[in-house]
Amino acid sequence: MYTNKLVFVLCFSSLLWLSCESNGKEIGAEKEIVTASSSVEQPTIQPITGTRLVVDSTITLDYIMGKFKPTTHKDFIQVAPKYANGRKDRWLRKETYKAFLEMYAAAKIAGIELKVLSATRNFAMQKIIWEGKWTGTRLHESKENLAKTTADPTERALKILKWSSMPGTSRHHWGTDMDLNAFTNDFFAKGKGLEMYTWMTENASKFGFCQPYSPKDENRPNGYNEEKWHWSYLPLAKKLTEQAELRLKNEMIDGFKGAETAVSIGVVDKFILGINSDCL
Ligand SMILES: [Zn+2]
Repeated sequence: MYTNKLVFVLCFSSLLWLSCESNGKEIGAEKEIVTASSSVEQPTIQPITGTRLVVDSTITLDYIMGKFKPTTHKDFIQVAPKYANGRKDRWLRKETYKAFLEMYAAAKIAGIELKVLSATRNFAMQKIIWEGKWTGTRLHESKENLAKTTADPTERALKILKWSSMPGTSRHHWGTDMDLNAFTNDFFAKGKGLEMYTWMTENASKFGFCQPYSPKDENRPNGYNEEKWHWSYLPLAKKLTEQAELRLKNEMIDGFKGAETAVSIGVVDKFILGINSDCL
């Protein structure tokens, strides 16, 4: 960690800290947050996350933006098919998976089967989803071809953002977030779905999980619609949210159709930080 501190101080004091991002390591297993010496002045922002934010040089911007392959990343592990509806292409951070397995076992005792329907999606995967909706090859809310119905780019992006993230801004990039059991809120309103959701709201926090996309109301005026299936492993995700808040700028969101709308929409504030305050 001493080397990281030294690199950070050197980068910061020469006002070149942003250019140092590309030299940083990918996020490591270390829990420690890099702190600069007291003589170095910290960037001043009003953090939504409520913690004093300091650049953590173990986390790169490329990692925050999902620009890596979970299949070859040392900190990721494949979700066993029996937990993933038979799929062999679901990946999570090792810490997230360990916590999920503990939660799975506890849920099982209560007669509830948790199924990982979606886990890590990197930038490239999110780009396929986003551009599919942008060009109309993938229908918005299973019925609307946005390329035909919505000419205005900002309006089109906002429709997609009801349910899907812009590439580079998804919590699914981080290996901390997963979608469980079904993709409609209706499923969780009755029967098995309600049973599962009730169990999760009462127990998931004991294992470190939180529902970031809670109902949209005065407590959460911005962000994606409610998603009762999306759960986030906070011991890792909290730190990543803070680093995104500190370092990811709307201008950096690029490399896909419609990316130019990120600035006018204010995607970082409205969507990355537009989450359930319990998850901040
Ligand atoms: Zn999700």
